[in-house]
Amino acid sequence: MNDILPPDSARWEWLEEKVRTLMARYAYRNIRTPIVEPTALFVRGLGEVTDIVEKEMYSFEDRLNGEQLTLRPESTAGVVRATVEHSLLYDGGKRLYYMGPMFRHERPQRGRYRQFHQIGAEALGFHGAEIDAEMILLADALWKELGLADVRLEINSLGQPDERKAHRAALIAYLEQNASQLDEEARRRLYSNPLRILDTKNPAMQAVVEAAPRLVDYLGEASLAHFNAVKAILDANGVAWRFNPRLVRGMDYYNLTVFEFVTDRLGAQGTICGGGRYDYLIEQIGGKPAPAVGWALGVERVLELLKEQETGFRAPVLDAYAVIPDASALPVAMRTLQGLRALDVRVQMHSPSGPSEGMGSMKSQFKKADASGAAFALVFGADELARGNVLVKALRDGAGGQQSEYSLQDLAAWAGHLQSQR
Ligand code: ATP
Ligand code: MG
Repeated sequence: MNDILPPDSARWEWLEEKVRTLMARYAYRNIRTPIVEPTALFVRGLGEVTDIVEKEMYSFEDRLNGEQLTLRPESTAGVVRATVEHSLLYDGGKRLYYMGPMFRHERPQRGRYRQFHQIGAEALGFHGAEIDAEMILLADALWKELGLADVRLEINSLGQPDERKAHRAALIAYLEQNASQLDEEARRRLYSNPLRILDTKNPAMQAVVEAAPRLVDYLGEASLAHFNAVKAILDANGVAWRFNPRLVRGMDYYNLTVFEFVTDRLGAQGTICGGGRYDYLIEQIGGKPAPAVGWALGVERVLELLKEQETGFRAPVLDAYAVIPDASALPVAMRTLQGLRALDVRVQMHSPSGPSEGMGSMKSQFKKADASGAAFALVFGADELARGNVLVKALRDGAGGQQSEYSLQDLAAWAGHLQSQR
């Protein structure tokens, strides 16, 4: 679990702002659900034989009433719970998005943490393939907004439960024949969740899963039509995709379209975003049956990938640093700074750290002003103040290189000058 500190946190804020703007363009609205949910919600929602439920959940007992609780390992189950609890679908489908921390008890490594952050989008109550496509287009637009390159889209269809059942029987028969090539985990899941075996990361098992029966060959007409409709919309939008018949996803709740955005630049943790359709989860969690589709991206992985690439991110610039030679100037200086900030100027006031040094020498204050990265210094010297002015000094090349006095009476006349170096 990591602390996110400045200056890194500015990248987080930048990304979050991009997401908010984009979600508004697609008419997705923000939902915020609790970080803790009843354990049963995840067991029922994600499926008992999944990595998350089997070994990754932070679960505990509420000491007051003995209730079993879990720190959310993902947010779809919570969003669906909230949708059902508040009857959000009573007047039609809803497009929602969230951002926030998730918790999984995994082995920490690059791109894999125990508290990590997801941004997710969910469209609930819509059955059409165009919504699956809209979801993918939304994610693709986000990569473009962020300036993220080198991500590719993989898609598959998991079909419907009856189609999965026929495939499952064939898959189990095939895996039984090849039992000697299965690792311990695969053997354990052979009858409880054979589909997940296809998703193994064990290199020794790649050959056996490569040759396994493909779910796509068991899809009926309606499922294939849905899948083709999604692909046609992606094609019409110039979004490249690769059909990956072995793409299954970690949770049990998916059906029909599933997809992942992956990159080769992050080592083993190359999936930055995953999602799909989950038409049976709402009913599973106790709501009236309704279709849904969604995705979640891993913020840490996206930021890590962005770090290596040229993006639109610029660290926020401080406009001005207030140099205050004598403490007696503080009341006037601070009144002025308040006025500038109300005009959207970013100002840092000099504040001495020690208890007994007064405001500190001019030299040390200018050193701090330089280190702050500010474009200008505002000097509240006694002589300038006596004239009703403040001295504005450019601190960096390109900021004018000179100095001039401005009136304290009319901040609006020169606030724009301070903002000119952003
Ligand atoms: P993986 O196969 O890497 O374990 P997953 O299938 O468990 O991923 P999802 O549950 O689909 O992941 O979560 C969506 C995204 O959240 C992932 O694609 C990834 O970017 C991110 N993510 C998942 N687990 C972690 C983690 N422990 N630390 C950081 N990011 C994570
Ligand atoms: Mg995982």
